[in-house]
Amino acid sequence: MKILVTAGPTREHLDPVRFISNRSTGKMGFAVAERAALRGHDVTLIAGPVSLATPVNVQRVDVTSARDMLAAVLAHLPQADALVMCAAVADWRPKETSAKKLKKREMAAVLELEPNPDILATIRPQKGGRTFVGFAAETGDPLPEARRKLTDKGLDLIVANDVSLPGSGFAVDTNLVTLVARNGDPETLPLLDKRAVADHIVAWLERNAPCAT
Ligand code: C5P
Repeated sequence: MKILVTAGPTREHLDPVRFISNRSTGKMGFAVAERAALRGHDVTLIAGPVSLATPVNVQRVDVTSARDMLAAVLAHLPQADALVMCAAVADWRPKETSAKKLKKREMAAVLELEPNPDILATIRPQKGGRTFVGFAAETGDPLPEARRKLTDKGLDLIVANDVSLPGSGFAVDTNLVTLVARNGDPETLPLLDKRAVADHIVAWLERNAPCAT
């Protein structure tokens, strides 16, 4: 199967040295790419700025901003059977970006923002027979939000986790997730290494994702 994976945060620059971003380290997405490639799948990994080595047999495309990530996803989607959107895309970007470092005195105390595109919503018309997997990282019970995102973003599977629990979510090697498929009962996995969570996601794709290319 040809699998496209996104991972890591995006960075929304205000000037060459300042940016808005989030705590994502890319570990979950890199684990999905690694485990899928080990299973013999053809994997392309679109990575935001992270400090992780490229997994063996994975084609990596580095991007910075949400708009770069959208362009890379659009470029690679036609060749993919499945997309796994692990990336923590920044929802907002500064309205203005300076090519030169801004002096403190040149900056306003209030930062004007504008919304970034929702990548999944933007590519939905190109879905065809492809399988889309998303993530819902929430604080508190993630299931209501995960169900809403599953429907609103046209996903086949959403991986929900409560990032406020110990050992779950950002910058740790483990994750506590519930797999919520469009048709089927939610499946809560035990606290697992991110590679083991990735194995479950890849196994789900192998059972459920048809060849779409
Ligand atoms: O940030 P949020 O919880 O809405 O993310 C849910 C899913 O939507 C994730 O799979 C994420 O990668 C994706 N997403 C996206 N474009 C955005 C924000 C999130 O595709 N601008």
